[in-house]
Amino acid sequence: MHGSVTLCQETGAYCQAYTLDRRVTASVCVFRDPEDGRYVILPPCGICQERLALWGPEVEVGVPDPEDPTRWLARTLAQVNPYYWARHFADGAWPSHRTHSS
Ligand SMILES: [Zn+2]
Repeated sequence: MHGSVTLCQETGAYCQAYTLDRRVTASVCVFRDPEDGRYVILPPCGICQERLALWGPEVEVGVPDPEDPTRWLARTLAQVNPYYWARHFADGAWPSHRTHSS
């Protein structure tokens, strides 16, 4: 199966938050490795980063700690994606919630 045809588990929570007009402030992707059963923290995929961008650059996401793979760190979307493409259409700023919603 190709990763682009799957849907991340977090998507349901993001849609629910949007439907209820609630703000997502943080998200962590927990993945269970089928090889050894270990749980690891993955950074959000590009599509989830795009979904989270609706709530702004300060949304925090979990990323693996490069110095200790058993730990994870919180980083903002802006830190994870410093060259966010949609800034081009918002005069260099992070697009507003309104812009993302339209
Ligand atoms: Zn995803």
